[in-house]
Amino acid sequence: MKSSLRLFRIAGIEIGIHYTWILIFVLLSWSLAQGFFPQLYPQWDTIIYWITGVVAALLLFGSVLIHELAHSLVAQARGITVKSITLFIFGGVSNLADEPEKPKIELVMSIVGPLSSLALAGIFWGILQIVGDQQSPLAAIFSYLALINAILAAFNLLPGFPLDGGRVLRAILWNRTGSLVKATNIAATVGRFMGWGLIAFGLFWIFTGNFIGGVWFAFIGWFLSSSADASRREITLRERLSGVRVKEVMTTNLVHISPDTSVAELVSNVFRKQHGRAVPVCQNDQVMGVVTVTDVKELPQEKWGETAVKEIMTREPLYSVTPEDDLNSALRLLTKHDINQVLVLNNGDCAGLVSRSDILTHLHLSQELGLK
Ligand SMILES: [Zn+2]
Repeated sequence: MKSSLRLFRIAGIEIGIHYTWILIFVLLSWSLAQGFFPQLYPQWDTIIYWITGVVAALLLFGSVLIHELAHSLVAQARGITVKSITLFIFGGVSNLADEPEKPKIELVMSIVGPLSSLALAGIFWGILQIVGDQQSPLAAIFSYLALINAILAAFNLLPGFPLDGGRVLRAILWNRTGSLVKATNIAATVGRFMGWGLIAFGLFWIFTGNFIGGVWFAFIGWFLSSSADASRREITLRERLSGVRVKEVMTTNLVHISPDTSVAELVSNVFRKQHGRAVPVCQNDQVMGVVTVTDVKELPQEKWGETAVKEIMTREPLYSVTPEDDLNSALRLLTKHDINQVLVLNNGDCAGLVSRSDILTHLHLSQELGLK
């Protein structure tokens, strides 16, 4: 998930909030100020309820951030790049550039989140003990935070993937069976059932009068089951692509064009004839860049004749794989950098391109023919 609103950076990790978070922040502050605190502490002024509600909601935001940072910092310490953390609806998502390679790394990475929530619950509970007046707004904030962090820890420890507990389960199964695919399938199935269970419970609550609580549960359940499903599909795709070499699907009959070719020539001689969407730009057998239909579209048509390809091509970063690489490594580059094709280089020479549509065509064809 992309951050919608960037806030700041911690240890090189960009922290952002998703737009939905703002809505949730308002709803949460409102329900704390108008429902939760007035019920428990009936003697305060209206303004105190609001200040307490907003401060508690902000500190909850901080708590969720610490939970996510725990995941991310452990990931970074294990050599996994963490691009960003996005806080959204009821939690956060750490945006990792790669998945952990070993079950043990995944286990440690997953468990530190709930553990840090548990530690926060303990810390807030400890502070609560030294606050004198237990009916004061300060005490109310700390007891709320102790409670909510304990709930966060418990909820995240549920063994359904992609919750932290589900990741722990996957790591254990992965370690036992040696198969990431099998482990993901089982953990994600548990996640789906758990999601349906939450939806059923939410509906039951809605019909028995607790509308808001019921909607929350149903929504969290829906989110859990659909993300479990997405993870299962992704891992199945990865399994289908593993063992397939880049050279089996890449586009090879590419025209190499020189950097000085005009854009007009590129369009009429290459794009219109070859029906490709990208070509490598080479000089003396050296790849200088890649030019795509998208690059051309950004240039007004009347300038095509007078503009050379080198002025619009992408020079760097150029991502490449070798013909012998596994197709998954190409897919990883495509998704990681959000691009449509990567270069295939054979000892530095341009051997071809592999694009998203090459991979899709391969998948469709092998399914149609009943191949792997
Ligand atoms: Zn977590």
